[in-house]
Amino acid sequence: MGRIIAIANQKGGVGKTTTAVNLAAALAMAEKKTLLVDLDPQANTTRGMGVGRDDEGPGTYEWLSQGGESEGVIRGTEMSHLSLIPSGRHLAGLEVELVGRDGREYILRRRLEVLPHEDQFVIIDCPPSLGLLTLNALAAADSVLIPVQCEYLALEGIAEMMGTLDRVRQAVNPGLAIEGVLLTMYDDRTNLARQVVEEVRRVFGDGVFKTVIPRNVRLSEAPSFGQPIMMYDVRSKGSEAYLALAVEVLGNEQAQSAG
Ligand code: ATP
Ligand code: MG
Repeated sequence: MGRIIAIANQKGGVGKTTTAVNLAAALAMAEKKTLLVDLDPQANTTRGMGVGRDDEGPGTYEWLSQGGESEGVIRGTEMSHLSLIPSGRHLAGLEVELVGRDGREYILRRRLEVLPHEDQFVIIDCPPSLGLLTLNALAAADSVLIPVQCEYLALEGIAEMMGTLDRVRQAVNPGLAIEGVLLTMYDDRTNLARQVVEEVRRVFGDGVFKTVIPRNVRLSEAPSFGQPIMMYDVRSKGSEAYLALAVEVLGNEQAQSAG
């Protein structure tokens, strides 16, 4: 299994799903075999990849629940290097089912270890909470990418998330690295957004991706067509930004394997 990156932030609506879908698609465009895992019961990543509510096939719930099977959970997509493990309505029940089970933080990690699939990247979209699902993602991941909306109190949000990650490291995954903080929904017409970017860079320096994701209406339209932005409108600002992000992630990976 290649590099496993969890896309996480306890705050809702910051661009986690948009980033998971479009970073995965951008890596696939760079001909890296990539697996996108939807670990959110809201299933926005799944819908964004064109898998509908009437889909009857197995997904993350069936894969992670007791006696879980990997048969049939990996779906092909319109992109040849990108595959998907979709989420569905049953996933919300998993946390309750797992209460009291030994090693319940490590279920995803174990399932990924035995997956008969050779991916260079695994991108995991997390729900907006720090429940057992997110904990499973962080326990399985090599690194975490933290999307942060360019808005008031962004710094406080990042600091809170960093504190959480310290505790997660101690509890379940000492080796968990920070892939980077990603500034999202940047609107260059507002002073506030510019100030937020400056401040976040001043405090977190190299921990922040150089790429900033602009607010771009094409990014918000693409999911309703069930397509990553590169399939929906490859020339849009949003597409360019996520392709640039993928280049940075590939650079991080090279630095990692060299060092
Ligand atoms: P949740 O916490 O509910 O899972 P999230 O963190 O996954 O949310 P998204 O679903 O990616 O956030 O984004 C929230 C909303 O903002 C969506 O409607 C999405 O289409 C829109 N959005 C995300 N990024 C951008 C962007 N760069 N430009 C315009 N719209 C965006
Ligand atoms: Mg989401």
